[in-house]
Amino acid sequence: MDGLDTDQQAIAEGVLDFNAEEMTCPACLTTFPTGPKACPECGLQLA
Ligand SMILES: [Zn+2]
Repeated sequence: MDGLDTDQQAIAEGVLDFNAEEMTCPACLTTFPTGPKACPECGLQLA
């Protein structure tokens, strides 16, 4: 896991995230902010 920078940035911004700020859809490789549990591009469920 290489998310230290992301975690530190999230803390600095006062944003509470469960894991990371963004994720990449394994189906279409779209990167999007975490929040919705489905890819906004292709609708793949990621929860
Ligand atoms: Zn997708």
